[in-house]
Amino acid sequence: MTSQVFQTPIAYLKGVGSSRAELLKKELQISTFEDLLNHFPYKYIDRTRFYKIKDIQPDLPYVQVLARLTKFEMLGEKHSKRLVAQAIDDTGIIELVWFQGIKWIEKTLAPGKAYILFGKPGFFNGKAQMAHPEMEPYSPEALQRKGNVTLQPAYNSTEKLKQFSLDSKGLQKLMAVLLEQTAKDITENLPLYIINHFRLMDRAEAYRNIHFPEDAAKLNEAIHRLKFEELFLLQLKLLKSKLHHQKFKGNIFASVGNYFNEFYHHKLPFPLTNAQIKVLKEIRQDIQRGVQMNRLLQGDVGSGKTVVALMSMLIAVDNGFQTCIMAPTEILANQHYQTVKELVGDDFIEVGLLTGSTSQKARRALHERLENGELKILIGTHALIEDKVQYQNLGFVVIDEQHRFGVEQRAKLWRKNNIPPHVLVMTATPIPRTLAMTLYGDLDISVIDELPAGRKPIKTVHFYENQRLRMFGFMKQEIAKGRQVYVVYPLIKESEKLDLKNLKDGTEVMAREFPLPQYRISIVHGKLKAADKQFEMNRFVKGETQIMVATTVIEVGVNIPNASVMVIENAERFGLSQLHQLRGRVGRGAEQSFCILMSHDKLSQDGRVRLNTMVKTNNGFEIAETDLQLRGPGNIEGTQQSGVLDLKVANIVTDQELLVTVRNYVQTIFEKDPQLSHPENLVLNESLKSKGEGLAWNKIS
Ligand code: ADP
Ligand code: MG
Repeated sequence: MTSQVFQTPIAYLKGVGSSRAELLKKELQISTFEDLLNHFPYKYIDRTRFYKIKDIQPDLPYVQVLARLTKFEMLGEKHSKRLVAQAIDDTGIIELVWFQGIKWIEKTLAPGKAYILFGKPGFFNGKAQMAHPEMEPYSPEALQRKGNVTLQPAYNSTEKLKQFSLDSKGLQKLMAVLLEQTAKDITENLPLYIINHFRLMDRAEAYRNIHFPEDAAKLNEAIHRLKFEELFLLQLKLLKSKLHHQKFKGNIFASVGNYFNEFYHHKLPFPLTNAQIKVLKEIRQDIQRGVQMNRLLQGDVGSGKTVVALMSMLIAVDNGFQTCIMAPTEILANQHYQTVKELVGDDFIEVGLLTGSTSQKARRALHERLENGELKILIGTHALIEDKVQYQNLGFVVIDEQHRFGVEQRAKLWRKNNIPPHVLVMTATPIPRTLAMTLYGDLDISVIDELPAGRKPIKTVHFYENQRLRMFGFMKQEIAKGRQVYVVYPLIKESEKLDLKNLKDGTEVMAREFPLPQYRISIVHGKLKAADKQFEMNRFVKGETQIMVATTVIEVGVNIPNASVMVIENAERFGLSQLHQLRGRVGRGAEQSFCILMSHDKLSQDGRVRLNTMVKTNNGFEIAETDLQLRGPGNIEGTQQSGVLDLKVANIVTDQELLVTVRNYVQTIFEKDPQLSHPENLVLNESLKSKGEGLAWNKIS
């Protein structure tokens, strides 16, 4: 919205005033004309259709009925006093009830007259009923009047606002005034050639129609136009900043040297998969162009992302640079440390670990060796980007599960060097393509879409409580073969007490079913001291115990190839990505692995879909897609700090196709005109600059 008019404080709109303005700001974050215009209806009430009384169903949100009033009477005493009327059409009877303002309403009712009734239908004693209907005496003119022949907008409001007559109806009135006054100032923010190419509705018309649709077709066009605009501007912004990043100078890692070669030929215990080779090549190309790399590495659990990251780091070391891996939690940092240490072996290259628990003394030593450049590989948590940690020449940074880090922290890393380090972001679990386009739209994306050869797909089954004995039997059978078993309980955030009780009860059952000395059990939960946790885990790692009973703390913690059975208790309580993560703890060795999902008999619709999905597929990308559809982007990790949630009209799940189209199109625009300096694209520069647009730009890097 380019015109200044839209920045006018909402208090100045006729019918608002200062106290309502205050409330609008507090309750709906509406403080300017523009904000109000962008408060779109959340649905439309179809007032084009009249229902016959016999067709009224209780689950209809609203119905409009043409009926003749037959009689009315006052019923009840005092508090239960109510006005009840009856109306009929040629198919049935509907009862109308009022509990408030009944004296006044009583006076307006005229038996024998026909009315247009509108309201939410209900049923009482098998009879159709409507409480506090909107009523208007029937006349041919009344039918023609706008309110009754079009889709009526419904706006989100709040209890507070309703007290100041700013319910949906009240907001609708304000909107009408505002549009009347400003529609002429709504200017186009997309170039004409794009409007024509995609046959988009004019912007002002779209605003008019999304609030007050002329008809259903116009409404659809309006919504489409505004969705397009929203996604288009978001992608324009993201791809522009991607271009912008690419203008950052990057260190050139010209050669592959000893570290890489030595590792590749003599250390790597397995052949790389084709997907790993492909991604390594992509990275290799990026880091010798003299432009800073910003790349997202996506791959399923166990697809071997860490090796790829390590090998890229070795190239950096070969070129005289320092590298680091930054993980979101201490457990994960530790795990990476162990994995990397194991892969490189002793004496090959030193690997440092820096987390919150690193002692002051060790820390000082690390700092010194980072500053003088001796230490080449550092693994840790946030601790490694603190200001006091200085590197001599940090050249390559791997960020694991970046979405928990946030964009600012990524930026902080860049300042660790004159020439910013190359950045490789790894996601813990795959995220759907369209979400990645928006969450990480400013990054290049690499995908490892293949698991190492010889991995047997994990067999997953879903058992109900009455199959528990079967589950126990199966565990015994696998343990007899020398395998180990995880049993995981959900962590209920709201109640730690309940958690422990759950775990305790479960453990008791387990201990009875799997008695000493034949069976030994490790128990790990969040309340244990770190040392005790480590002790218990170690017993399991060493094979001293065959069963590990745990809360979800093991989710990201361990890698034990001999553990081939994962039992998940109350599996219906877990989210899909969490289930997939947990299942990824097994299937790491050569043996056939299993995952048993235990659940209650009663499942919610979503719960059923989740468990079925797990049984049906091992593919993390497919699971992520389903997860997104079930939960929407708001509950997917990483979305909170992105612009995705601020989308007002478009929906990342249902508008995937449009998103892809738009992104591709924006790409071609930048290919032809990277600066957006062609005359026909100047308007786009303006659109990028203008604030608002329903998107929190400042939150996107
Ligand atoms: P991710 O981080 O993608 O979940 P990891 O990098 O932790 O996966 O790898 C999972 C396991 O697979 C590790 O034990 C790793 O050593 C092993 N691995 C990685 N690449 C291969 C490969 N090409 N062939 C066989 N095993 C591999
Ligand atoms: Mg990993």
